[in-house]
This record gives sequence, structure tokens and C-alpha cells, in this order.
Amino acid sequence: MTLQFDNRFLAALPGDPSQAVGIRQVRGALWSQVLPTAVAAPRTLAVNVPLALQLGLEEDFLQSPAFAEVFGGNALLQGMQPWASNYGGHQFGHWAGQLGDGRAISLGEVVDVHGQHQELQLKGAGPTPYSRHADGRAVLRSSIREFLCSEAMHHLGVPTTRALSLVATGDAVVRDMFYDGHPKAEQGAIVCRVAPSFLRFGHFELPASRDDIPLLRSLLDFTLRTQAPDLAGQGAQGDAEWFGRVCERTALMVAHWMRVGFVHGVMNTDNMSVLGLTIDYGPYGWIDDYDPDWTPNTTDAQGRRYRYGWQPRIAYWNLSRLAMALSPLFESAEPLQAGLERYQLAYAQAEQSLSAGKLGLSQCDARDMELMTELQVLMQSSQADMTRLFRRLGDLPLQTLDASALEGQPTVDAFYAPLDEAARQQWNDWLARYRQRCQADALSPEARQARMRAHNPRYVLRNYLAQQAIDRAEAGDLGGVHRLMEVLQRPYEDQPGAEAFDALRPDWAREKAGCSMLSCSS
Ligand code: AMP
Ligand code: MG
Repeated sequence: MTLQFDNRFLAALPGDPSQAVGIRQVRGALWSQVLPTAVAAPRTLAVNVPLALQLGLEEDFLQSPAFAEVFGGNALLQGMQPWASNYGGHQFGHWAGQLGDGRAISLGEVVDVHGQHQELQLKGAGPTPYSRHADGRAVLRSSIREFLCSEAMHHLGVPTTRALSLVATGDAVVRDMFYDGHPKAEQGAIVCRVAPSFLRFGHFELPASRDDIPLLRSLLDFTLRTQAPDLAGQGAQGDAEWFGRVCERTALMVAHWMRVGFVHGVMNTDNMSVLGLTIDYGPYGWIDDYDPDWTPNTTDAQGRRYRYGWQPRIAYWNLSRLAMALSPLFESAEPLQAGLERYQLAYAQAEQSLSAGKLGLSQCDARDMELMTELQVLMQSSQADMTRLFRRLGDLPLQTLDASALEGQPTVDAFYAPLDEAARQQWNDWLARYRQRCQADALSPEARQARMRAHNPRYVLRNYLAQQAIDRAEAGDLGGVHRLMEVLQRPYEDQPGAEAFDALRPDWAREKAGCSMLSCSS
């Protein structure tokens, strides 16, 4: 099996002179050469066939034992030059120093069938110089979550890294899932993820924190050359424009998270991609009953810094950290400030246009945004399921749309608790205003419905659905993972036979571990 590799990151940027194993601070270098550690019995559990073909892999190879060997970390294809990259980050609001790829190992940059570079990266392939106090491994449950969610996001139209494969290692990995002194042996697994680049805000923050301005400069030059060639060699103007684009891309990504009800859970700056891709699927979650204060991450339960409703402002804070890191390359702060303003503008625009899509309006003005806010307040106070509510709002004919049309029947029901009289009244008031607004809009009823169906998914990776698939997979049955993969490939289409995948979250899942609460243990 041959792929076309062009490992630009290694070729262009300084690496760690030491090839020793062992944890260390790595200065003056952006990567360390490191081999995946062999695993006992690699077995392919799932492959993303269209993505594999896009990378230039042959279909026969995907089912072969050789595929499991390569993507389980036991063998290399010609041209692969594994490395772990060096970055820092702000974690939960505090500078954390050097972090780096502690359990991710990049295999190389493939030139895909479209001529695009795609970096292949194994997650859970063993220790690197950046593993700090941990083992470099990943468990099956978190690997399934990353594999399923990155593909679900892709098909929802949310910018994201992709997932090529899920391979069981045959080795046990010990984790204390709730950090409560009960470590347990779990099954190990490795996901191969794919993106044009895995460069994070933290890649820029680390050299800046060490006053290594030449390294910072080289990294930015490399980034422009490879990710924004139209800006390369333009000096300060190109640098500023690049930062502005990072701001805009980040705004768009977060606006899409808000549209689909996705909560990242760990928006540390080491988990923010400069390409504006959703990256590092850990204790993420999906909104069931609408609650802007909700976070799935139990490690963040106290301050809930990374709650759903705060994501737009946290992204801005993170971009401000990136701006700080880049500031030694600028003569004044003004261009960076201008970039941050582009974030605010881009976010407001994206929020307006996505809200228009969600409400089925041709566009949203300030008053329409108020209508959206009122809807959100109502959804929260009456425990409405976000996904079902928006979908039903679009699918029910406007004329018959009242509170009772949204509740009661299992095929329609969008609430976790019965509506009382006051709530029913509030819904009917809101729906009356909404009906009026729709009737005044230029869109026909059919166009309105089509627009809403394209913005409001019917199927998302509900937390409990992922957990059910994981429970089955841990018992050796991959059927749940494959079925979810299938359904989530077409999230906007009604799929006969897939009714169970857009049901309200069952009561048992409300407080169950894995379904609504996740720790960083993975
Ligand atoms: P995260 O919050 O999961 O993005 O991880 C933060 C840092 O911890 C990154 O540098 C990771 O590479 C590292 N890390 C997380 N889990 C492990 C692990 N099991 N082994 C080694 N490093 C890890
Ligand atoms: Mg991370």
C-alpha cells in the first residue's frame, strides 16, 4: 500500500535533537521524533471508507490485517515519519506551560486525491516526550466518542477534524473514570484522526512564553506558506490578515456549535485549532433539554467555565491569548485588536444568519433576534428538547402550530415535563408572534420548511445514544457504533426506521455517568 507523503512540518521546522524516550521540556523545537509503541492485538473496529478513499487508500487494504497493524501503531507505511508536536496552553483560564502531544502521534502528511495535504494522527499510540504523568493511551469508550462525534459533526456541516479509523489494541488501559480512587482496567483503542493541520493556538503560545521569537516567527511563516499561501511573504499585513481569518473561522465554528447544541467541554487554548476546526473530542456533550448553563464535563462542574452558553465568549478569550502570543511579531497591538473585532462581527453575523435558518426566515434583524432569545428563554423554562423543538417547529404547518401541537404525542413531543397552564399560554403567545413573523416573510411555507430542515438536524449524537453504543462495543458488539455512523451520516433527512435516534432522552439517562456527566478521564 503506498500513499503519497509530504511531511512539510518536519521538513520546515526545527525538531528536538534528542530521540530519547522519556518526558522532558523541549526548547527551541516544535516536534520530537517518536515511534508508536506496539500493541498486543490490533483489530479494526470501524473504518471511514469515503475518507480512506479520499486519502488514496485502496478498498482491499481497509479490511486487511495490515491496516490494523498500521493504524494500531505496529507498522509504518513507506513515507511515514512519526512525530509528536510541542505546544503549550491555557487550561481553565491559567497558563499551563508545555503540554504537547502526550498521546497523539502524527504519522505524516498525505497528499489526498484532491491534492490537499492531510495529516494523519494516531490518538492513544503510546508515550511521547510530552506525556507528562500519563500513559499515552486511550480507552475504547473515549475513542468511540471521538470517532463518532467528529464524523457526526462533519455531516452536520460543522468544521471539524475527521476520523479515519477505530482500532482496538488488545491491551488493557487502567483508568479511574471518576477520579474517586476506583481505577479499573478498560479496553484500549486508537483513533486515527485527519486534518489539513493540527496546529493549535498553544503551538504559538509556547515559543512566545519562552521569548523564543525566532521560533514563533518560523512557525507563523510556515503556517502562512502552508495554510494561507496568498498571505505568505506579505509582511505585517499578511500576518494581521491571517490572525483576522483565524478569528472569523473560530467565530463560524462556535456559531455552528450553538446551532446544533454541541458543548465542547474543554475549550483550553491547546484544544483550539488555528484552522477553526473542532478538535479534541473529550468530555463533550449535546444539549437535550435546553440549558445554556449546562456542561457535560464533571471536571469543570464547579465554575462551569465551558458551559454551552459561554462558548462564544470563551472563544474570544482564547483568541485574545493567541493575540498576546503573536504580539511580539507586531509593532503595535492595533492590528491584533482589529482581528479580535472581526471575531465579534463574524460571530454576530453568523449567529444572525444561522438563527434565520433555524427559524425559517429569509433573514433575521434585531427584532427577530429578540424573538429567538424569547424562544430560548421559553425552551429553558419549560424543559424543551432543543433538537426536537426546532425540528417540529419547522415540520408542523403554521396554521395548526400551538402549544398542544408540540407536546403530548410521542412522535411530536418536545418537552421533558408537562406544560402547565402558564407555560402553555406563554408558548401560544410566542407561537402567535412567530406565525405572524413567518407570514410577513418573503419565504413561502415550503421554502420555510426546507430552510428549517437544512438548519435543524433531526439526528444528533445524543449523549445516551453514544453511551449505549459504547456499552455494546465493550461487550464485543460493534453493531451500535455502525448503526450510529450510518444514521449520523444523514442528520437532516428523515430516516424511516431511525425513530429511536431522535427520541427524547429517557429518564434513566438523566444523571447516568457517560450520558450526562463525563470526566476528562479517557
Ligand atoms: P486534553 O485536555 O485531553 O486535551 O489534554 C491535555 C494534555 O494532556 C495534552 O497535552 C494531552 O496530550 C495530554 N494527555 C491527555 N491524556 C493523556 C494520556 N493518557 N497520556 C498522555 N498525555 C495525555
Ligand atoms: Mg487536547
